Amino acid sequence: MSKEILPGTPLSSEEFEKSITIEEHPNLEYSWDDGIAIGRYLKELKEGRIIARTCCGCNRTMLPPRMFCELCYRPTDEWAFVEDTGVVNTFCVTRVNWDASRRGPDEPPLIPAVVEIDGASKGMGILHLLGEVDPKKVKIGMRVKAVWKPKAQREGKITDIKYFKPY
Ligand SMILES: [Zn+2]
Repeated sequence: MSKEILPGTPLSSEEFEKSITIEEHPNLEYSWDDGIAIGRYLKELKEGRIIARTCCGCNRTMLPPRMFCELCYRPTDEWAFVEDTGVVNTFCVTRVNWDASRRGPDEPPLIPAVVEIDGASKGMGILHLLGEVDPKKVKIGMRVKAVWKPKAQREGKITDIKYFKPY
């Protein structure tokens, strides 16, 4: 296959640089609306409580809460407080941080886990961290309890729970 040079007018290096340089300073401020269900969920976390939503169509207690049931295709019905205890559904032990940076050799591994919360339906829970536990002793089915930040430090975020510990 021969290499054919197509006719045209090539750009000089200066012209090429000029053509791809974009000097924009866009305003990237934004807001995010957390909606009715997650808004209430976050507000309750600040108070040290976990709230879910029930659906009387399928009799599920959904956590995190949602205003619409994806199984019944109908609005959910009631708010329901659930416990801050639960069971480890799945977990992993990792030396990689949330931002994909590697943990230092002196830092303990992280143990992200899905915790099925007592009072919510089977399979409903929170993705969070486990703490105060030897990574080698974590088991699926292990009972855990939330360790909350002190009330004055809570902000209405999932990190108002520091981690879940064996219970
Ligand atoms: Zn339903």
